[in-house]
Amino acid sequence: MAPFATRQSIVEAMRSLLSLGLSQGTSGNVSVRWGDRLLVTPSGIPAEQLSPDDLVEMDMDGGYDHPLAPSSEWRFHRDILAARPEIGAVVHAHPPYATAFAICGQEIPAVHYMIAMAGGANIRCAPYAPYGTQALSEHALRALDRRSACLLANHGMIATGPNLAKALWLAVEVEVLCRQYALALQIGTPVVLSDAEVAETVERFKSYGPRDKAGR
Ligand code: 13P
Ligand code: ZN
Repeated sequence: MAPFATRQSIVEAMRSLLSLGLSQGTSGNVSVRWGDRLLVTPSGIPAEQLSPDDLVEMDMDGGYDHPLAPSSEWRFHRDILAARPEIGAVVHAHPPYATAFAICGQEIPAVHYMIAMAGGANIRCAPYAPYGTQALSEHALRALDRRSACLLANHGMIATGPNLAKALWLAVEVEVLCRQYALALQIGTPVVLSDAEVAETVERFKSYGPRDKAGR
């Protein structure tokens, strides 16, 4: 059984999505890799009511032994974790600005250098498919090619990371970027960075973060 601390961190992530305004009601779900299995939020339980015991441990075939049903989106959580060994956590939410672009079926271009945190010069928008379907999972996997985040048309967004803290952080960054882009579109014509400028930032981010005097 996955440790209490891991379960608690997922509950806290779900509550953060709510308090940060990235999710509302029962929208959104979170998963974390646990060995050769995954731990995923249950379907339809509001974050305020969620407890660590409610999280559903699943095998990669979708099997589970729990009184609650796993998130309806367990397929894309499972498929992302199966296809991308470097990913340890998946966050899905319906944040207002990211979802507004997804409603328009628009990808996010490189209008801010922070887009490099999602892996490259755009955040793609996966085509629409009904929630919970294998088709949605396949669209999402394609949109996430060489990227750690994507939009889902007429639905919301997915952010991933090597661990839950980083996936949650990226979800917030993507929503902030979408908000900045939406504001910029009202002011004028956003200037898009070149692929070379984004590639340089992707490289710079590899050594970004707090470090000691020796640069470690
Ligand atoms: P679940 O409550 O089943 O996780 O569904 C929420 C959601 O966002 C579906 O896309
Ligand atoms: Zn959703």
